[in-house]
Amino acid sequence: MAKKQFKAESKKLMELMINSIYTNKDIFLRELISNASDAIDKLHYKSLTDTSIKVDKSDFNIKVNIDKDKRQLIISDNGIGMSKDDLESNLGTIAKSGSSLFKEENEKKKDIDIIGQFGVGFYSAFMVASKVEVISKAYGAEKAYSWSSEGIAGYTTKECVKDSYGTDVILTIKNNDDNNYDKYLDVNEIKSLIKKYSDYITYPIKMMIPESKKKEGTDEYETVDEEKVVNSLVPLWKRNKSKITEEEYQTFYNDKFDDYEKPMKYIHFSNEGLISFNALLYIPSHAPYDYYTKDYEKGLQLYSNGVLIMEKCSDLLPDYFSFVKGIVDSPDLSLNISRETLQQDKVLQKIATNIEKKIKKELENMLKNDRETYEKFFDVFGLQLKVGLCNNFGMDKEKLQDLLLFHSSNSDKYTSLEEYVTRMKDTQDTIYYACSESIDKASMLPQTEVAKNKGYEVLYLTEYGDEFVMQTIFEYKGKKFANVCASEALDTKEEKEELNKINEENKDMFETMKKAIGEVEKVRFTNHLSKHPVCLTSEGAISAQMEKFMRAMPNSNDIKANMILEINESHPIAEKLKKLYKKDKKELENYSKILYAQARLIEGLPIDNPTELSNLICKELS
Ligand code: ADP
Repeated sequence: MAKKQFKAESKKLMELMINSIYTNKDIFLRELISNASDAIDKLHYKSLTDTSIKVDKSDFNIKVNIDKDKRQLIISDNGIGMSKDDLESNLGTIAKSGSSLFKEENEKKKDIDIIGQFGVGFYSAFMVASKVEVISKAYGAEKAYSWSSEGIAGYTTKECVKDSYGTDVILTIKNNDDNNYDKYLDVNEIKSLIKKYSDYITYPIKMMIPESKKKEGTDEYETVDEEKVVNSLVPLWKRNKSKITEEEYQTFYNDKFDDYEKPMKYIHFSNEGLISFNALLYIPSHAPYDYYTKDYEKGLQLYSNGVLIMEKCSDLLPDYFSFVKGIVDSPDLSLNISRETLQQDKVLQKIATNIEKKIKKELENMLKNDRETYEKFFDVFGLQLKVGLCNNFGMDKEKLQDLLLFHSSNSDKYTSLEEYVTRMKDTQDTIYYACSESIDKASMLPQTEVAKNKGYEVLYLTEYGDEFVMQTIFEYKGKKFANVCASEALDTKEEKEELNKINEENKDMFETMKKAIGEVEKVRFTNHLSKHPVCLTSEGAISAQMEKFMRAMPNSNDIKANMILEINESHPIAEKLKKLYKKDKKELENYSKILYAQARLIEGLPIDNPTELSNLICKELS
């Protein structure tokens, strides 16, 4: 029969499997058992809503058998099974949406990263098998089909005979080379792999185990194979915390959530009382590839007394904690809960509130007691917390503001707002921040220097939108926020008065300059700038950095900050301008335009008419 070709990305994944980039080949068994368990879950779940499906829950099981002579390891389940089309589409291509990403990202990243993002699944069988055969009969179907492949060359499918519904995966184990593959044909070895990686599976995993038995009526012993259940059947999240090893928590995470990296943290807890539930939550150590896109679906797996009722229940997590993965199991949930009725479900709402509180508490503890991990966490998911804080007009800011970290002039380490406030001097009543693309640039802004000279600590905001966060928080422990670049943010009363006087005296000159520039709200002298000749400040809610942020968003190009051009009153340029105002107004106009352009450049803002500017500068130079 003609071989069919694998889809390109499947082929690539398979190559990786065959050439075994994983040193830990053992995990293939976990993957296949997990698929078998999923298939039973699917049938079980279907039977709850479809009365035509007659299955007995107690019959569900997974069998793992060894045929040493044929070098075969066989994993069988009585789950939902696959039709011919299912076999083709599920096993001929990577089922996950990750496949297209796999293609694109492949060139850029290390292969292993990409696989880690969506799991190796079925193809991992090729790490240990020279041939893989799948025999399957879909529940309710009349015919069974087989799928068979010896590697990248392709696969064949054909009709075959199978008595009952479900799937057998038959691996022909490779011959030993540098690796010992024989161990996958050893009963005890397989048994201990199941214990190690698949113990939490909720269906019985049965194996034929040789037992030494007394022959009837004699004193002699003989070895008889007996079918035994080798897993403990209690789901991990229902087990006693003190009896679960780190490795078990990790393996479970890797398997359930298709991530090959260790989780950053797990949170295992239960709630007793009016509503009881068990929850096992994880914070990943990296953001999933699609995390910051609209394709990402948040949610926790929802179980009702051990039966999976929803793969991703989004109502259990607030958006700002959407990075959390995990499982919730409650006997108080009704089995036929549907997506439509979920939102009205009181039990579910209570569980969600509980979970949110618990996550918050754990993050706070981590921030306090395990700063290093928390900073790593913040580097990965901090942006999500900030977005969450700004959403819904800051409705959740109280919950989130203490979880934020910032860079600051205090040290090269992160600081929280609370820590900033405890360092504030008695005379300081405002939390100062400076915005720029990088910490370096923010620290070198002329206004930052002024603030530091006055003994104030300055937070360095380097991400687009950071200033929104500050404006949303608005007030923290009774302290207002101020951008060091905003006008007068740093002045004392006397300084303000003196400056007002000088500005009043030169008001007509500034009017001329303002007209020449066109785009600014005001031109004035300042006494903040120690060395720099000019800077831009703003009045009102939109600062220069905010303008940049808003311009980067669609449909908001016409948004402009109310800019003020400030000129260093003690810089020689100030005297020069005064002179020009008396003698040469035309020249004053040119100077104004150049100074304004300079100030925009320092702020990292674009120049609207670079040619005009270039001509002006050349004219002055020559
Ligand atoms: P996944 O991460 O989706 O499990 P796999 O590559 O392991 O990816 O499997 C691909 C698909 O093949 C599964 O999503 C499932 O639909 C199907 N499949 C695999 N094993 C079985 C099985 N034992 N019974 C029924 N379907 C299966």
